[in-house]
Parts: sequence; C-alpha cells; structure tokens
Amino acid sequence: MGKNYADHAVEMGGDPNKEPPCFFSKPADAVVSEVDTIPFPSRTRELHHEVELVLAIGKEAKQVSVEEAPDCVFGYAVGIDLTRRDLQTAAKNAGRPWDVAKGFDNSAPISAIHLIEETGYLENAVISLTVNGKTRQQGNIADMIWNVSEVIAELSTYFTLCPGDLIFTGTPAGVGILRSGDEVVGIVEGVDKVTVRFE
Ligand code: MN
Repeated sequence: MGKNYADHAVEMGGDPNKEPPCFFSKPADAVVSEVDTIPFPSRTRELHHEVELVLAIGKEAKQVSVEEAPDCVFGYAVGIDLTRRDLQTAAKNAGRPWDVAKGFDNSAPISAIHLIEETGYLENAVISLTVNGKTRQQGNIADMIWNVSEVIAELSTYFTLCPGDLIFTGTPAGVGILRSGDEVVGIVEGVDKVTVRFE
C-alpha cells in the first residue's frame, strides 16, 4: 500500500498519524474515457496499475471542513492511476518531481461519471482490478485511511477546487506491472467499471 493521488490523488495504507496524504497532479489531457485501446506508454519498463475511486467536484471548494466536503461532490467514477514506477522510483531517489512518472499521455483512464444523486454518498464499496481476467487488486473504499471528505477538506487547504476537477483517491494493495496486450478492468461496485487494453 502506498500514498498518492491524481488531479490530486491519494492512496490507501500507512498510518494517518504519521503520514499526511501526498498529492500530485496530472494534466487534464491525461484523462481518457471510453477508449478501447491505448498505446503502451513510452520510456518505461515498469508500468503499474492503481485502481482508484475518482471524485468529480461540482462546487468551488476552498478551505472547506470535513462536514462541508460532501456537498462539493458532483459524482463518482472509477479510474486507473497509471504509473511509470521505474521513473517514479528514480525521481523519488533523486528528490525530483513525479510529472514524467504520473502525468503522461493516457495516464488517467476513467469510466463515465455518475451523479451522487444516483449513487448516494459512498462510504462502503468494493474496489477491484483485474488483468486479463485475473484479480490483482481488491479492497473496500471504507478502508481508505483518508476518506473522501477528509481528502477534499485537506486538498482544499492547498488549492481552490473547482467544478470539473477530478480527484483520484487511494488504491488498495496489489499494484503491479502491465505489459503490452494486457486488458485491465477496474471496478467500483455501485459506480461503474473502466476497461483498457494496451496496444
Ligand atoms: Mn495512485
């Protein structure tokens, strides 16, 4: 289990008393939806999948409280935070930014966004990912060390969140490597699924 997140993202695991959430950004054009295949990313030998619940912001949020945070959620999607882990490791070791490891072309495939009025406020939902039909990651969003409202509240102390912003949250254990030709399916029960095949 790790720690990180897209447009601002967060992962599951760790001790919240020790470690605050770690945020990073992906460019807006990294987000792709309803694609069948994407080119295998360049410059990596260690492409990793991280299935995550994605929050779509529907209302400006600046320094909001945990109690106010749910009101800022427009809807949910399921996404895959694709990561060039080899480049991320090198960047971490060198104390350099993560952009080339996290913010590359097609690095944020997501499902359709579903309105919170349809899904309800998610507190408990199974999240999973398969590669070529075999389960790699499985968990429950109830186990995120920073829940959705806490993530929004914390992030809103750094940035003004705006309608259209997408927040990738955390990923359960089991992140792993992807190869050319793999078909990846990420699912959040009660939300949707996202399917990506790599050329
Ligand atoms: Mn992630």
